[in-house]
Amino acid sequence: MNETNGPDDDTLRDFIREAIREDLGAGRVESVVTRFPPEPNGYLHLGHAKSICLNFGIAEEFDGRCHLRFDDTNPVKEEMEYIESIMEDVRWLGFDWGDHLYYASDNFEQLYDWAEVLIGKGKAYVDDLSADDIRAYRGTLTEAGRNSPFRDRSQDENLDLFRRMRAGDFPDGARVLRAKIDMASGNINLRDPVLYRILHAAHPRTGDAWNIYPTYDFAHGQSDAIEHITHSICTLEFADHRPLYDWLIENLPVPSRPRQIEFSRLSLTHTVLSKRRLMQLVIDGHVRGWDDPRMPTLSGLRRRGIPPAAIRDFASRVAITKTEGTVEVALLEHCTRELLNKTAQRRMAVLTPLKVVIENYPEGGREDLEAINNPEDESAGTRRVPFSRELYIEREDFMEDPPKKFFRLGPGREVRLRYAYFITCTDVIKDDAGQVVELRCTYDPETRGGNAPDGRKVKGTLHWVSAADSLPVEVRLYDHLFTALNPGADSDFLDDLNPDSLTVLKNCRIEPSLAEHPQGETVQFERQGYFCLDPDSAPGKPVFNRAVGLRDTWAKIQAQSGSKG
Ligand code: ATP
Ligand code: MG
Repeated sequence: MNETNGPDDDTLRDFIREAIREDLGAGRVESVVTRFPPEPNGYLHLGHAKSICLNFGIAEEFDGRCHLRFDDTNPVKEEMEYIESIMEDVRWLGFDWGDHLYYASDNFEQLYDWAEVLIGKGKAYVDDLSADDIRAYRGTLTEAGRNSPFRDRSQDENLDLFRRMRAGDFPDGARVLRAKIDMASGNINLRDPVLYRILHAAHPRTGDAWNIYPTYDFAHGQSDAIEHITHSICTLEFADHRPLYDWLIENLPVPSRPRQIEFSRLSLTHTVLSKRRLMQLVIDGHVRGWDDPRMPTLSGLRRRGIPPAAIRDFASRVAITKTEGTVEVALLEHCTRELLNKTAQRRMAVLTPLKVVIENYPEGGREDLEAINNPEDESAGTRRVPFSRELYIEREDFMEDPPKKFFRLGPGREVRLRYAYFITCTDVIKDDAGQVVELRCTYDPETRGGNAPDGRKVKGTLHWVSAADSLPVEVRLYDHLFTALNPGADSDFLDDLNPDSLTVLKNCRIEPSLAEHPQGETVQFERQGYFCLDPDSAPGKPVFNRAVGLRDTWAKIQAQSGSKG
């Protein structure tokens, strides 16, 4: 895949970092200041994580700083709830903006003054055309636009009308303030772009103070300049806005000259990363909320049990380029596994229990066996797991009539119970419907700990829990939210929803050491994957989410494409 960097690079190299090195080398900037500028109209997702890791990462690498700035210029869609979740998510991802928290709305007064400066220079005018007419006059990619009949108003009239727009004298949409640039420009963004619109709407932070609001184009670059941002890194759709960005900076008495650099957005397979679509999934109830573990939102991934370090690793492997490309969501799962394999404690849990009675084990007998917490990390130590006459194993670890390659339990077969004993299945008990409901087994007391002194080998090692000591839990397994690689490519994206994205298992059993498991710590259930406690858990009623299974589909994808990852 050409969309990813090699994982072994210590120094991240991409065209943005190169450009910054050059700017520093040539003395064009003294120290690097970047910003992450979310609009608080939804929750952050993996695409934002790419931008956060890029902006905060660059600030760290170059000994500069990164600001968090809320781009809150559209009061209709913005809410405090989003502001709070965004701050929580950026912190969770591991980044700190220190004292540098800003809001575009803090600059409303300054932006207004600068709009009057443009009017004073004859570079902005109040237009009475309707939104539809403005669009019609704008022309097309192949056809020049036409000047508005209001374009040549006197400066005094413009100033008077603009002040009355601010005072609330006109209804929504009645007038706009436009920059006076060039209606024949080859770049549509320079055909007298709108700078202010009338909106009688309460703003989450400025309340009813304003009846007009600046557009993104007017607010963004000027906010960058006010904050002395040196490199304003944004996604490719703003490349065509750059001439306007620079025009405004040149024509206004701003305190600094930021440089805009664009890179391509992250797209992921089996996922949508548009706030509008994610919002629709939430509002229409296709998921349980912004933090549904199937969502690509940071709050969803956190709830699912994906550690922030895995997301940072993922972001560092996704190439920063100017070309659009799609990254396999399996890469994130791979980063998660690679990290958790090293750090997660192992536990035993049986997701679909089948009862096993060890007939030659004493009635009422019970012993604690030693289990290793993490074979990858000796310092994680060991724990005690209770063993008794009645156990549960995984239903799929038994077959009555096993094929050749099935190395687990079957009638007359011997397997190892991990950290415990070798057992042999002697009898199969069924209900009236012919369903296997219980296995009768014998154990070999000589094999305590899982090894036979006579050196005899078994091919299968099963996980298990003691029936009486284990605790019942609900387990939720997740699959891709969309079956299609590129949801919505051929039809409505909702048609591509995966009907089996959530599987709820109600009667699972966990070993007792998981009873007091802390929220937020992901563990490995042996042979099943990585799991964490869901906030839906209640005392005595734990619910576990599976973050990822153990099978690495990314490794397979890499092997098929024949390149290294
Ligand atoms: P909207 O369409 O509502 O503007 P947005 O996805 O651009 O949505 P913002 O809140 O404006 O959301 O994004 C904040 C920052 O994150 C911007 O700098 C934006 O370029 C960046 N960003 C958003 N989506 C992605 C993505 N998929 N990949 C990389 N960066 C992204
Ligand atoms: Mg945006």
